[in-house]
Amino acid sequence: MEVKQFQAESKKLLNMMINSIYTHKEIFLRELISNASDAIDKIYYKTLSEDTLVFNKEDYYIKIRVDKENRTLTIRDTGIGMTKDELEENLGVIAKSGSFDFKEGNELKDGHDIIGQFGVGFYSSFMVAQKVTVISKSIGSDEAYKWESEGVEGYSIEPATKGDVGTEITLKLKENSEDENYDEYLEQYRLKAIIKRYSDFIRYPIKMDITGS
Ligand code: ADP
Ligand code: MG
Repeated sequence: MEVKQFQAESKKLLNMMINSIYTHKEIFLRELISNASDAIDKIYYKTLSEDTLVFNKEDYYIKIRVDKENRTLTIRDTGIGMTKDELEENLGVIAKSGSFDFKEGNELKDGHDIIGQFGVGFYSSFMVAQKVTVISKSIGSDEAYKWESEGVEGYSIEPATKGDVGTEITLKLKENSEDENYDEYLEQYRLKAIIKRYSDFIRYPIKMDITGS
């Protein structure tokens, strides 16, 4: 297993996300679904340009799995996946699309919805998760890798097993506190409402699988 540090800029954004008092933390799901959808788009365009690959519509979907006992939420896609290097490059650095200068205090100072307006990306999962685990297998690769982080201290990468190409992101939800209740993200009606609000336009089916009570 390799243990690595985040870049300085990533650390800043991560810190902001971890300590966020933002009231619409639910947007983490929009970000993860949008990444999943992008990843499926990428595999789709690849199949268009390579005769050897066939795109079967049924094979491409996003699946949300809830494990109430373990308080985990998993977002799995059948997209293009990431190699070990891509996991490091893409998840170890600040959101590339973050075209704005993410200053601490922005959110409060401007009074309006900075986090909500811009895609803050993958790191927004740390608003609700104490640990994020990404298992991915890239197209054309036999190996899968697991990327895991509990926040600013850094992340680890190690070989993993995964049958299909694609990515699976598991959020271990934060403990509930007096001010925040994270259990709501384990409830089907709540997840459905969030998806309806932010991800209604996604072209791929979003399936749901809830276990435990
Ligand atoms: P953005 O989507 O704006 O590039 P994100 O922080 O949301 O920024 O994601 C960073 C990068 O991580 C993405 O550009 C992509 O390369 C990679 N990534 C994230 N989620 C996935 C996924 N589910 N499948 C494949 N790659 C992903
Ligand atoms: Mg994104």
